[in-house]
Amino acid sequence: MRSGPMQLLSMVLLFLMAAALAGVLVYTVRAGPLLVSGYGNAAPGGGGNDGLKNDIEQKVRLAEAMQAAQNKATQKKDANVTKSETKPETKAEIKYSRGGYDVTPLSESRINELAKKLTPEERDIILAKGTERAFCGNLTDNKKEGVYTCRLCALPLFASDSKFHSGTGWPSFFQPFDKDHIAYHKDTAYGMERIEILCSRCTAHLGHVFEDGPAPTGLRYCVNSASLEFSEDKDGKHNLPAASLPIKTSVAYFAGGCFWGTEDLFQSVPGVINVESGYMGGHVAKPTYKQVCYTDTGHAETVRITYDPSRVEYKALLKQFFRFHDPTTLNRQGPDVGTQYRSAIFAADEAQLADAKAFIEEQSKREKYQKRKIVTQLALAAKDGDAAGFWVAEDYHQDYHEKNGGHCAIPNDDD
Ligand SMILES: [Zn+2]
Repeated sequence: MRSGPMQLLSMVLLFLMAAALAGVLVYTVRAGPLLVSGYGNAAPGGGGNDGLKNDIEQKVRLAEAMQAAQNKATQKKDANVTKSETKPETKAEIKYSRGGYDVTPLSESRINELAKKLTPEERDIILAKGTERAFCGNLTDNKKEGVYTCRLCALPLFASDSKFHSGTGWPSFFQPFDKDHIAYHKDTAYGMERIEILCSRCTAHLGHVFEDGPAPTGLRYCVNSASLEFSEDKDGKHNLPAASLPIKTSVAYFAGGCFWGTEDLFQSVPGVINVESGYMGGHVAKPTYKQVCYTDTGHAETVRITYDPSRVEYKALLKQFFRFHDPTTLNRQGPDVGTQYRSAIFAADEAQLADAKAFIEEQSKREKYQKRKIVTQLALAAKDGDAAGFWVAEDYHQDYHEKNGGHCAIPNDDD
């Protein structure tokens, strides 16, 4: 039997599959033994098939979180050496949770300031990683509906719908309020290997997580009452203080040529939470990329930016927009020609409209825009659902550069 190219190819494929499988196994094994039994005597929990997927996902996440926590500790050490506290914030340093909370790690000085309100017992648990005596915390038997927030920084950590009676003497939950609100750290104190849980924003010590919880996660987050504050629901709704609410976000719309590049560039701006590629300012509802390219739908390739106005002002986004594209070429950006590549600002409200108008007027006076005039269109954004409103582009356009590599060149700063 002759070994032809097809046979060679299938051997290579077989090898690659085996390698991939081995990789998965190594990863699973690595994630597996992180959770071990520790204090408490909760009955082994349900889990079952329904909970299995969540359980594994959770474990992998724990492993990743542990690694991230270690990396962060190393980075923090390095940062202390270079005194980076005076550095302006970068995108990587600002973090938002899935639920829209600002979970950027607090500085040591801010933590110290917050810690002034703690009692000596609370300090011992929250800052010095102590454990309150079983059955002594005030929230162990709390059966009211509501949200448990961080005693130190007020971030929501657990909710009553995931609290269960573990019989261990500490408040127990089978999942956090938001996965991004809890940090995990390997704890080898007292000759045991346990997973410590901390508030991901202020690093307050909360307790530990074990693998003997009920379905659907099979996990038991064992938490000190002293690390928590309870906010009771009102009329069936969460009733959280201002400090425990998600951030208020704003949106902005910019058309600056091919949306792949505009999306990619705005993603890197600190304070920008999300950027989506889409079509705007046309006269056909639900446009497709093909329609926009080959028929006269009137849409411009536009990005919708969701941002945190407490971190980045609309005026700063306008400035970036002019950095990221050429506002002087009519219906064109570089090699891309056509009205879909026009330069346009769709203001989300009257305040943005006024800001954008003032910004364009101010820019127009500059030397660099005397010969080549600014041609950027300015209009109020139409409502979602209107033909002229924002239509999210097909999935393959989202995060195009992130998925396919390559970046657009950023023009040099000229001021
Ligand atoms: Zn906290």
